[in-house]
Amino acid sequence: MPPGRACDRPVQRGRGVSVVYNRVALIGLGLIAGSMSLAMRRTGLAGEIVGTARSADTRDVAREIGLVDRVVDTAAEAVVGADLVVLAVPVGAMEAVSKEIAPHLAPGATVTDVGSVKRAVIDAVGPQIPDGVHFIPGHPLAGTEHSGPRSGFAELFDNRWCLLVPTPGTDPAATARLRALWEGMGSNVDEMDADHHDLVLAVTSHTPHLIAYTMVGVADDLRRVTDSEVIKYSAAGFRDFTRIAASDPTMWRDVFLNNKDATLEILGRFTEELFALQRAIRTGDGDALHDYFTHTRAIRRSIIEAGQDTDEPDFGRGSKAE
Ligand code: NAP
Repeated sequence: MPPGRACDRPVQRGRGVSVVYNRVALIGLGLIAGSMSLAMRRTGLAGEIVGTARSADTRDVAREIGLVDRVVDTAAEAVVGADLVVLAVPVGAMEAVSKEIAPHLAPGATVTDVGSVKRAVIDAVGPQIPDGVHFIPGHPLAGTEHSGPRSGFAELFDNRWCLLVPTPGTDPAATARLRALWEGMGSNVDEMDADHHDLVLAVTSHTPHLIAYTMVGVADDLRRVTDSEVIKYSAAGFRDFTRIAASDPTMWRDVFLNNKDATLEILGRFTEELFALQRAIRTGDGDALHDYFTHTRAIRRSIIEAGQDTDEPDFGRGSKAE
């Protein structure tokens, strides 16, 4: 392989284990990048994993816990000779990071991202990617409310979906290689158009997060219920809102600013449904409420049947969490 050029084929390493990329550069060292590093190491999917983060504190923690093979100080340095570059920073930071790395990308390399919004990332990053470098946006549908370099774990992507959003003209071989990496990290992989992705995620993730943030804010505002009562009796549904509402403020600010149209569309629909339920409660229309809740219960069942959540009571927490 000529120096500075990315190798475009995976190499075999040991029995049954295949290195999919020889050098992976992780830009950002938080929950998602950290989990990717640990998941890649689990089955030896990367020859070397190089990482960097914006702050010296995060880079120091990553060094201390050995999160990646090599921590470097800048994104420009991290991507040199990498055949895969993963942008794992908040959506609003993708453009600046891609501008920084663009002149240093190896010909033949693939740049991907893990951002929760796709159209805005494609518009921000796509124009920065030089000819001869593949750009394949992605989004693992897996996460927790924790963030930072200590929050990652190797199993995060197991049996979770990862959506790849190849842009028109993307080399199918480059997409297949990225798919192999995500499958190796435990994910199921689908491909999707960017606008459809943003609408689907507005329904399944972005609007629910906004509702959780609102509900926790309302509880905080309501002076007739004391703070200690809210905390003490939170097992009755509220606790799950608080977990979601504890998610990283920067990440979620950027999600809403960058998936504005789809989120507003789904919020509009949500408001209409809420008014209909409000009317049913006011008029004592029990049949309407019962029908509605029967339908939503069936949706919950199908999520469990699809293996995307546990059927254990109280989401598997057991009585200890009460
Ligand atoms: P995280 O744990 O908060 O880590 C974010 C990383 O980005 C940190 O290393 C941080 O560096 C760096 N960063 C923050 N602002 C930056 C800036 N302006 N310029 C350069 N670097 C910056 O976040 P995460 O949960 O891994 O999320 C990363 C990406 O994955 C986001 O785009 C998010 O939308 C997406 N995602 C998240 C989830 C989830 O549930 N968390 C799920 C799927 C996808 P410092 O630590 O030095 O500040």
